[in-house]
Amino acid sequence: MDTDTIAAISTPLGEAGIAVIRMSGPEAIRLADRIYQGKVRLSEVESHTVQYGHIVDPDTKERVDEVLVTVMRAPRTFTREDVVEISCHGGMIPVQNVLEAVFAAGARPAEPGEFTKRAFLNGRIDLSQAEAVIDFIRSKTDRAAQVAMHQAQGRLSQLIQSLRQDILETLAHLAVNVDYPEYDAEQLTAQVILEKSQKIEQEIDQLLNTARQGKIYREGIATVIIGRPNVGKSSLLNALAHENKAIVTEIPGTTRDVIEEYVNVRGIPLRLVDTAGIRETEDVVEKIGVERSHRALEEADLVLMVLNYAEPLSEDDRKLLQVASQHTTIVVVNKTDLEPGFDLEEVKQEIGDLPVVRMSIKKEEGLNRLEEEIAQLFMEGKAPSADATYVSNARHISLLKQSKQHIRDAIEGVHADVPLDMIEIDLKNAWQSLGEIIGDAVKEDLIDQIFSQFCLGK
Ligand code: GDP
Ligand code: ZN
Repeated sequence: MDTDTIAAISTPLGEAGIAVIRMSGPEAIRLADRIYQGKVRLSEVESHTVQYGHIVDPDTKERVDEVLVTVMRAPRTFTREDVVEISCHGGMIPVQNVLEAVFAAGARPAEPGEFTKRAFLNGRIDLSQAEAVIDFIRSKTDRAAQVAMHQAQGRLSQLIQSLRQDILETLAHLAVNVDYPEYDAEQLTAQVILEKSQKIEQEIDQLLNTARQGKIYREGIATVIIGRPNVGKSSLLNALAHENKAIVTEIPGTTRDVIEEYVNVRGIPLRLVDTAGIRETEDVVEKIGVERSHRALEEADLVLMVLNYAEPLSEDDRKLLQVASQHTTIVVVNKTDLEPGFDLEEVKQEIGDLPVVRMSIKKEEGLNRLEEEIAQLFMEGKAPSADATYVSNARHISLLKQSKQHIRDAIEGVHADVPLDMIEIDLKNAWQSLGEIIGDAVKEDLIDQIFSQFCLGK
């Protein structure tokens, strides 16, 4: 168990009005007193109060910055340790100076995620909640932040705990039979185990079913707009971005200058991929070729294929339609305000089951239909609920699947008249896998790995 006192800047780096330096550990208040000058000593103030004063160099007693200091005593703190938060002036220089004073007083620089790790180790939050903090910090859309927030508040944990409770009850039932076989209730017990296991499997399935939605909220629907030059791709992009408040714009990629743009369609985040390509070259197909655009489409969750209603279908259109028909595609027939250049009914025959939306972006017609179509495809028509619990973390999904498999083994065991103590093992394994989601009985290296994903100061 950590017993030293750690410190880090807990506000984002950069120019800001104020910055907060957080200290946590048994010595936090005593160490802070070494560098704090104010009316009273911090060790004498009441918990959860704010003091005005100055931070001074512990050796020279020179003033470093004018500050507000919040003293919070264990256990009613984020880490369940004594915590001191120093609000100092923002900007690199004052913050660094105060942080140096804090270290000079005897605190150790915190590792990334170490505050949250302590909160976990001290039982303040469970592992899935800690992971939600990571998701929250990283979330790119407001909805993803909401989902992460609910998880951080322990919604998923509650569901997992109630599932584990169900398994425990089943195990208890089973133990009675294994320990007292003379009761000769084996038939009855098998029946009860079967029913309970099936109910548990159903509930795990329900959670797993939220995974697709969870991923969508977390990462957005990767969306690619394709079509010949001049059909209206940029116009569509702009219409989507204008109608729907763009959530995040211009996240420069790491490798090339890919610009990702998020738009919020009825609560669903669309991540518009490679919009730079659309904007700059005006013609993705010509530039990268049908083969490569095919590959770009492989990574898309949604393809918006734009046709120009005012012109006859060209060979390029047909090729692209052919490619698009192998993906989740909505065909956007644009420029319906102009004289038709082709017979839409005829084209519908060619494209089979793909949904078609007629639009005039110029006249602002059809955008609603397109949004409806998107919601239909990804939410099965259901309005996304901000309250629901979504499983979105890959580790959780994999553990839920493992757990489901153990439950399935138990169910099949009952059907095959396998001895009850074998079924007991399956149920225990299921219980164990679920436990790993909330951090019950997880190995230390996994914990280290999870918390190392945090940024510094969290
Ligand atoms: P892109 O090359 O596919 O990105 O096409 P743009 O979005 O740049 O549009 C090409 C041209 O078509 C522009 O002059 C647009 O104003 C025009 N345009 C876009 N949508 C419509 C529409 O619905 N009706 C008409 N008449 N023109 C449109
Ligand atoms: Zn354009």
